[in-house]
Amino acid sequence: MINFNVPPCADKAMDYIRECVKNQKICGDGPYTKKCNEWIEKKTGTAKCLLTTSCTHATELAALLVPEIGPGDEVIMPAYTFVSTADAFVLRRAVPVFVDIRPDTMNIDEKLIEDAVTERTKAIVPVHYAGVSCEMDTIMDIAQRHGLKVIEDAAQGIMASYKGKALGTIGDFGCFSFHETKNYSMGEGGALLIRDRKYVEDAEIIREKGTNRTKYYRGQVDKYTWINYGSSYLPSDMNAAYLYAQLEIAEEINDARLAIWKRYYETLEPLARAGRIELPVVPEGCVHNAHMFYIKTKDIQERSALIDYLKKNEIYAVSHYIPLHTAPAGRMFGRFHGEDRYTTAESERLLRLPMYYGLELEQVDYICGKVGEFYR
Ligand SMILES: *Cc1c(COP(=O)(O)O)cnc(C)c1O
Repeated sequence: MINFNVPPCADKAMDYIRECVKNQKICGDGPYTKKCNEWIEKKTGTAKCLLTTSCTHATELAALLVPEIGPGDEVIMPAYTFVSTADAFVLRRAVPVFVDIRPDTMNIDEKLIEDAVTERTKAIVPVHYAGVSCEMDTIMDIAQRHGLKVIEDAAQGIMASYKGKALGTIGDFGCFSFHETKNYSMGEGGALLIRDRKYVEDAEIIREKGTNRTKYYRGQVDKYTWINYGSSYLPSDMNAAYLYAQLEIAEEINDARLAIWKRYYETLEPLARAGRIELPVVPEGCVHNAHMFYIKTKDIQERSALIDYLKKNEIYAVSHYIPLHTAPAGRMFGRFHGEDRYTTAESERLLRLPMYYGLELEQVDYICGKVGEFYR
């Protein structure tokens, strides 16, 4: 059986976790959390990285750092995304305003954003689907002209870039995910990337229950106290240890994933040329990270039939997001601006094939063979 996902685990993970336990350093902000933060800062060039308990929490933390986002304010995002993108702002009683996606990348259509801006708009949240960047130059330009914050949902975007800039570092804030389904994992976890140093102190305080404990640990104050609102967004150092072992071999993991992606692409190309399926598009200037390999079928019926066919052959392939504006909470909390030309139609055709570090190229060939068989 070929699973859809197998969580990544680097050889050194168990040694590092054992070290945490032995040294009795298992709470947040221990040595491994620090190593992860520093690794991400160096790799991406962001001013500051703070490891969090999830990407959902990183996004919540970003929303809390922009106090001007309040009840009734609007945040523009694609409808084709994971619920967390919207949740973080719904919790602030803001209104997610969903905009249609581009059919080529499944990312928010940057040309439709400006029309959705009202005087209540406070932020844009681009989601880099499959680790392929949104058209950030256009998005940053709109944000600048209208005084909006940009919070990148880069949950799938670590190790990917746009015109040489790491995803997650272009907007005011960037959010990574280290969930078990992502390229690098700590079970549950994430990171907040902060572009502008002026937010760092507030971020550290909000992440630590509204206290200045981070400053206390650094020896900058002699006792810590409650100084602002906050929550607890620190992961255990054991989780960070598990992640750090993968970050150490990040290039190797990335190369292996890209090789799998390329093998899928090349093997399925004839089927795409024959007009039977569509393959993912990576625009110029975007370097992706092979987070996902998807194909598009003719319609939802064909997709279901292909999922069943693959399952009969012991291959787990899966669909993805149900557009948020069609979900009960999406209807209750948000609204769709403009026409849903592509969001629903394209999401119904999209099928994700198995993709994980450790998937063998022979297995990819087998999967492609079965896809070919289905279309014969
Ligand atoms: C995985 C994912 C999230 C949520 O990440 P968690 O770490 O599970 O909170 C948010 N947005 C997108 C686009 C994702 O793919």
